[in-house]
Amino acid sequence: MNMNLIERDSRYVWHPYTQMQTTPAPIGIVRGEGAYLYAGDGRKYFDAVASWWVNLHGHSHSYIAEKVSEQLRTLEHAMFAGFTHPPAVDLAERLLEVLPSDQAKVFYSDDGSTAVEVAVKMAMQYWSNKGTPRNRLIALKDAYHGDTFGAMSVSSRSTFTAPFSPLLFEVDFIDVPVKGSEEEALEQLRRIMLEREDEIAAFIFEPLVQGTAGMVMYEPGPLDQLLKICREHGILTIADEVMTGFGRTGKLFACNYLEQQPDIFCFSKGITGGTMAFGATTCTQQVFDAFLSGDKLKTFFHGHSFTANPLACAASLASLDILVEPETMESIARISRQHEAFAGKIAGHRSVRQVRCRGTIFALEWETGDSTSYFSGLRDKLYNFFLENGIIMRPLGNIIYIMPPYCSTEEELDFVYQTIELALEKFSA
Ligand code: PMP
Repeated sequence: MNMNLIERDSRYVWHPYTQMQTTPAPIGIVRGEGAYLYAGDGRKYFDAVASWWVNLHGHSHSYIAEKVSEQLRTLEHAMFAGFTHPPAVDLAERLLEVLPSDQAKVFYSDDGSTAVEVAVKMAMQYWSNKGTPRNRLIALKDAYHGDTFGAMSVSSRSTFTAPFSPLLFEVDFIDVPVKGSEEEALEQLRRIMLEREDEIAAFIFEPLVQGTAGMVMYEPGPLDQLLKICREHGILTIADEVMTGFGRTGKLFACNYLEQQPDIFCFSKGITGGTMAFGATTCTQQVFDAFLSGDKLKTFFHGHSFTANPLACAASLASLDILVEPETMESIARISRQHEAFAGKIAGHRSVRQVRCRGTIFALEWETGDSTSYFSGLRDKLYNFFLENGIIMRPLGNIIYIMPPYCSTEEELDFVYQTIELALEKFSA
């Protein structure tokens, strides 16, 4: 059955970011449970990356499944222009309640890229509505915000965008304020403000952890300073919490670590607990006010057929229920402690260039290989090694990371750490 699946797959299906015509062939997954994915040939894999960072509570969670199937039998979909429904309103209320700052409105979309598209379009139309159009953005170097054209335009790695040039608008990329680069980043932002403040619509950033860049981590302090400068100059700020949201960084949101708060948030990935594609963009009352003319709402020129899909909203509500349970919060804290302890243990290893942690995210940069290339020789070797040991890892070049489902046990993580130690010996500098 599995052979047949793989054969038919290679004949008919086109996968994302996969060198399909080369080995290894995709693995046919037929079932998911807890932190594991089960292949048709009977093998099981520990999902150390929560399936591209989305499965917060593991796979096929029974409570989410129950809530989604209940919703499926009640109302599976209704267009959202001119209509509303309880799951959409309940979720908006819940989201606004748990966010770290005063956000006023929730706009639903389909995934992380479209949550970013919405944010960027919202920021641009904000200025246009005010009668002072602005269409330039500021972003961080090495940023990744998605694969649609607007999201690509604010992403900086040419690996992902080179074939699609020209992109949609001008973006100034400033240094990531990692240790040692804080002053330079601030200086670059100040310079942009001096030169072309009145062209800048917004500053977009991945707060504290830049995922696709290779789990690049930086501190809240310098980000607060960047946000402060933007605020002083009236530039809108957009936190892309697509990856960092919903507990990943140890707090509910990465922006919980900040004093300054963004005007706009983008969410996706873990929002539904990994059940289905969904996105949400929230904004402050001040941003929304720019879309009001007296008591009339100016059209925001964006809308997806599946906006606020009731099943996705129900899944998100169920995922939030699980997330705020004390056991989940304890589990997040325990995973964070385990990561820190393991990082301390291996920091001095000759094969380790750097090891970094933020909450449930652990990253290890190999001494050998190029950390700026996604396709370094080490990448495939590491990917295959972990698979052979029953662990799903997706190295970013010579960087491996763990971002496990919150249901992962202490023993399961210990097994991943032990396998990393084996890999450090096998692929040593
Ligand atoms: N923003 C960030 C920070 C991301 O990490 C990603 C996905 N890796 C996206 C946006 C795009 O999300 P999606 O793949 O759901 O479109």
